Amino acid sequence: QVETLKAKLLEQAQEISRLRSELGGTDAEKHRDLLAAENERLRQEMKAMEGELRELQRQQQAPCRDCPHLQENAGLQEQLSQLQREAEETRAKLVELDLEVQQKTNRLAEVELRLKDSLAERAEEEERLSRRLRDSQETIASLKSQPQQIKYIIKTVEVESAKVKQALCETQSRNQYLQEQVGMQKQVLKEMEQQLQSSQKTEAQLRAQIMMYEAELERAHGQMLEEMQAMEEEKNHAIEEAFSRAQVEMKAVHENLAGVRTNLLTLQPALRTLTHDYNSLKRQVRDFPLLLQETLRSARAEISQAIEEVHSTNRELLRKYRRELQLRKKCHNELVRLKGNIRVFGRVRPITKEDGEGPEAANAVTFDADDDAVLHLLHKGKQVSFELDKVFPPEASQEEVFQEVQALVTSCIDGYNVCIFAYGQTGAGKTYTMEGTAANPGINQRALQLLFSEVRGKAADWDYTITVSAAEIYNEALRDLLGKEPQEKLEIKLCPDGSGQLYVPGLTEFRVQSVEDINKVFEFGHIKRVTECTNLNERSSRSHALLIVTVRGLDRSTGLRTTGKLNLVDLAGSERVGRSGAEGSRLREAQHINKSLSALGDVIYALRSRQGHVPFRNSKLTYLLQDSLSGDSKTLMMVQVSPAEKNTSETLCSLKFAERVRSVELGPVSRKAELGSWPSQEHLEVLRTLLGDSPGSTAPPGRGHGSPSPGQLSSRSASIRRKLQTSG
Ligand code: ADP
Ligand code: MG
Repeated sequence: QVETLKAKLLEQAQEISRLRSELGGTDAEKHRDLLAAENERLRQEMKAMEGELRELQRQQQAPCRDCPHLQENAGLQEQLSQLQREAEETRAKLVELDLEVQQKTNRLAEVELRLKDSLAERAEEEERLSRRLRDSQETIASLKSQPQQIKYIIKTVEVESAKVKQALCETQSRNQYLQEQVGMQKQVLKEMEQQLQSSQKTEAQLRAQIMMYEAELERAHGQMLEEMQAMEEEKNHAIEEAFSRAQVEMKAVHENLAGVRTNLLTLQPALRTLTHDYNSLKRQVRDFPLLLQETLRSARAEISQAIEEVHSTNRELLRKYRRELQLRKKCHNELVRLKGNIRVFGRVRPITKEDGEGPEAANAVTFDADDDAVLHLLHKGKQVSFELDKVFPPEASQEEVFQEVQALVTSCIDGYNVCIFAYGQTGAGKTYTMEGTAANPGINQRALQLLFSEVRGKAADWDYTITVSAAEIYNEALRDLLGKEPQEKLEIKLCPDGSGQLYVPGLTEFRVQSVEDINKVFEFGHIKRVTECTNLNERSSRSHALLIVTVRGLDRSTGLRTTGKLNLVDLAGSERVGRSGAEGSRLREAQHINKSLSALGDVIYALRSRQGHVPFRNSKLTYLLQDSLSGDSKTLMMVQVSPAEKNTSETLCSLKFAERVRSVELGPVSRKAELGSWPSQEHLEVLRTLLGDSPGSTAPPGRGHGSPSPGQLSSRSASIRRKLQTSG
């Protein structure tokens, strides 16, 4: 039994060694190591590939940015990146497999450990069994030597062998179990081998894939290289082309250069002359300010000399002009003086419908064909002749009348006071002469128009203001026709400045600048005029109407100021009261009118006869017109007469009045002029010239401003007077 047990033990040990070799734990390990090495190699290869790829990409990016292959390249790169992704996945799978292999290896190690344990156990068991075998053999030997005891021992052995048999049985069952265990291990091993095989297969697949990728990469690399080569070729080609073009251009440029060179050669002399010119110009420019200054200085001197000359000429001209002006004024005054300071004109109106028909409306006035100053009136069968300064027949127009008056009007601009009266019975044409009609205006409007135009003509040297007042004297009461309170009686007062001038406080003055202004003023005044109907004329003015025009002037160059007054007076009807059949208030009106008219006559008479006392204060009219009637003024009496037979006695009265005032001589005419500021000696000279003090001016002998000598009366007027005396 021991022998068989030994053989079995041996057999089992052999079995174990065989199993060990069969198990090949080391083989699997080797295989795993191999795989890991392979894996590492592949990894390194991949890394190298990636490096290469990166290099290629860099190369590809660098040379051509806008190359048409870029797109393809991008596609390839995308493929590449996909491949890389796949490689990455594969790698992940590989790692997984690695892990699996690791696990399996671990398990294998565990199994090995267990196997080792069981082998160790078996070895122990064997040891124990061999020890017992030895013990048993020793016992058997001792028993042989001791036969007595052997029987007993055999018996115990027999008893014990049953025990050994039992132990063997146990060992056998144990062996059985171990064998089963080994079978199981073999099974596990087989499974693991299978797994290993499958992982090997996967690895092979992966390797194939990697190979494929590598091939792909190779291809891509080749393609890229090809493309790069193509690009290189293209580049070379372009460079060649550009080079050839540049060569051609260079040639042209060379040619041009040659042309330019020749040009330059020809230009050089021109440049030389230009440089020369430039230098000379530069010199000139440098000298120019000096030259300019010189020229300017001389020009300035010339100009100032010329200005000086012009100045002196101007001064001379001004002096001459003023002298001429003075001479003209003198001549004018002389003329006026010769004509008399009170001038009397007669105007005969035409026969009108109002005169009726029959002998009463017959014409009683005739004229002298040779003398326009004489008119004959047939009164009660007798012809009475009158000599006035001028007589206007019925056909004389307003224009003609005004022409004779305008010298007086303009003298107002020069600073003289002027009175123009229209005298005559109601209906004789006073208003017609003074105011006229809208279509045919009279003296008033024409005078103002003339003043405007004269003032405009002198505007270069003079500033003029023209103001207008309108007043009426009714029943010895002075009223403002332009005022807000026409019923208010105004007073005439002496100027408080001691000039002896009169003025009417509260009398409205309108500044007028145009004909429209005058028309407005006249219209305004007309409304307020008191007019009444009598049996003599439909519209009979029962009051004196005055239009007072004041012209104030300032000579800008000399500072001389002038003030002239033009009094245009439409007197009330001069008819005697009995004729008009007036009563009550009409009678009182007529009395006032007669009183004022005779006061006018008295004043003029007193002036004429140079009486110490002139009764200006006897009527409002004369008082108001005092400064326009006295010494330094000019007066025109327009005596209006009706040619009708029925009016002859009134006509006679009017003409007698006219003749009476005509012979009156006013004092020497002087101008109302006052000094403004006189800045220089020159101006004083001018003033002296104006006043006739100039040492060079000489008055003509026997033509002074004193009263006229009897010899000065014209021979014509003497003859007429003789005529009148003979006619009775
Ligand atoms: P007075 O003002 O003297 O009363 P008017 O001027 O009113 O007289 O004249 C009376 C009439 O005679 C008016 O109808 C006027 O038109 C007319 N008349 C006066 N003078 C002339 C003239 N020179 N030409 C034409 N008509 C005239
Ligand atoms: Mg009238």
